[in-house]
Amino acid sequence: MAKKKFKTEVSQLLHLLIHSLYSHSEIFLRELVSNASDALDKLNYLTLTDDALKGLDFSPRIDIRVDGAGEGTLVLEDNGIGMNEADLADALGTIARSGTRSFVEQLSGDAKKDSNLIGKFGVGFYSCFMVADSVDVISRKAGEDSAWKWTSDGSSGYSIDSAERESQGTTVILHLNDAGKEYASHWRLQSLVKKYSDHIAFPIHMHWVESEGEGDEKKDEAKTEQVNAASALWKRPKSELKDEEYNEFYKTLSHDGEDPMLRIHTRAEGTLEYTTLFYIPSKAPMDMFHADYKPGVKLYVKRVFITDDEKELLPTYLRFVRGVIDSEDLPLNVSREILQQNRVMAKIREASVKKLLSEFKKLSEKPEEYATFVEQYNRPLKEGLYSDWAHKDDLLSLVRYKSTSVDGWTSLQSYKDRMKEDQKAIYYLAGDNEETLRKSPLLAAYKEKGIEVLIMADEIDEIVTPMIGPFQEMEFKAINRSGALDDLKTEEDKKKDEDAAPVLKKIKEALGDMVKDVVSSARLADAPSCLVSDDADPSAQMRQMLKAMGQTDLPEATFILEVNPEHPVVKGLAASEDTELDADVAQLLYEQALLVEGVSLKDPVAFASRLNRITAKAF
Ligand code: ADP
Repeated sequence: MAKKKFKTEVSQLLHLLIHSLYSHSEIFLRELVSNASDALDKLNYLTLTDDALKGLDFSPRIDIRVDGAGEGTLVLEDNGIGMNEADLADALGTIARSGTRSFVEQLSGDAKKDSNLIGKFGVGFYSCFMVADSVDVISRKAGEDSAWKWTSDGSSGYSIDSAERESQGTTVILHLNDAGKEYASHWRLQSLVKKYSDHIAFPIHMHWVESEGEGDEKKDEAKTEQVNAASALWKRPKSELKDEEYNEFYKTLSHDGEDPMLRIHTRAEGTLEYTTLFYIPSKAPMDMFHADYKPGVKLYVKRVFITDDEKELLPTYLRFVRGVIDSEDLPLNVSREILQQNRVMAKIREASVKKLLSEFKKLSEKPEEYATFVEQYNRPLKEGLYSDWAHKDDLLSLVRYKSTSVDGWTSLQSYKDRMKEDQKAIYYLAGDNEETLRKSPLLAAYKEKGIEVLIMADEIDEIVTPMIGPFQEMEFKAINRSGALDDLKTEEDKKKDEDAAPVLKKIKEALGDMVKDVVSSARLADAPSCLVSDDADPSAQMRQMLKAMGQTDLPEATFILEVNPEHPVVKGLAASEDTELDADVAQLLYEQALLVEGVSLKDPVAFASRLNRITAKAF
């Protein structure tokens, strides 16, 4: 077959791998073993569920062959699902994993970060080009008769030709390069398998040749040894498992190179029997906010792999969790449709959510560690606030916010504990930039009265917070909503409002339908007017978001004009009896408030003539 070029990302990735990351080259073995293990998992499942493959005589295994002082080749073989011609082109000619693309982007962005980054991502199959000049992959797909050989030097492209292979499975042949020669030693390989792949559930056999005797007596002897324990790690008792073993298992499972932040290993016995082993990555998975994120939890039934592509195993907001669910009670041939309505699965899912949330709660008792958790996962947990009502109270105790009174994060509970006795609500200001929010003039009135305001700078706060309902009987109130300030008004303020009534009426008459209402405001210090949204309407920012989401039939926005009765312009207007001038001033109060909000005027020409009419009167 003609030689084919790699898709661009592949060439980029290979270049980066080969030139900047080879101090970590040993991870290639973990990647290859983990691919082999996945291939065995898949075939194992098919021999139980697929009629065509049911009769297959199959004892899953991985073999590693090294020729020591010979040609410097290293062979890794599995008798798993295998690949046909199209699979090879698809899997090894493009970058399938969505995370990999961002990986490449990050790498290319800042060369200095390279060596740290490699630790953080699984780069998969391509890592073998760190140690090999060229790689052959000979594969035959289970249930098919022909075998194929994929060959590449890892830079220019690859070719696929027909080949021979006795039965299903995949053989990866690495022609080691100078840097890779160190892996031609069975000692080295053995210790790497122990280090990275001891938990793999299938036997890994090592084959090598040992020379014995001297001179004419010298004889080569072929040796074979099983190198790993070959039992499913999650089934082993916690007391037997070391941190390193747990962490290596995590890395194989998640393709993350960094140790996890948290692990939760649970065995349930009783009416339902199952084991779960969950991990929380130390950094949020890169596809967490992509609609096509890859789910991180694998389902096994009695240690047989069933699926790693089922998003319903946990609620969507927990999509950052990695791990394994292994049930003793589900049928092995469980289909996706059955799974989603299955009672057993529903119970395991519910128990898993409870367990995860309670472990997060435990973590929250250690503020420093919890802060790093919050930095990564606050936002998905907030999604849970509107999607998972059953666990709302737990989630409310887990989410954190910034605030005007304390540094760092605060919980709602501690906000409530700090509240003044007569405070009527939980006040917040939501937007998408913390710095801008902190500078908002709206905060001044609250600061003056010593009332703490939560600063919510997460994109989704503005949607989620109004939907939460009360927290311990305290309603959330956005301070950029018209009603919010009424709570703060003193008797004296109310008296001032009464005095302002005539001028408000005057402005309202002049503006007509342009505004929903005109009210007096205590929050304005230097400005004569500002615009706020009505409690019942979407705010300006929400409108923008709804528009971006394709909502085009939004009614024209009308706002409430707040005016400052203490301001000289408003005072002047109150005292004036010049109807024409009054109408111009009222308009200007509205128009300048629009300009301050960054909204462009509908009729700038009319605005300019108004401004000139008034300015002319100043002389
Ligand atoms: P990942 O394993 O994260 O998907 P890789 O680059 O390691 O990324 O592998 C790409 C794909 O190639 C795999 O998803 C799988 O479909 C296929 N593959 C790799 N190795 C094997 C193997 N030994 N047997 C069957 N398929 C394999």
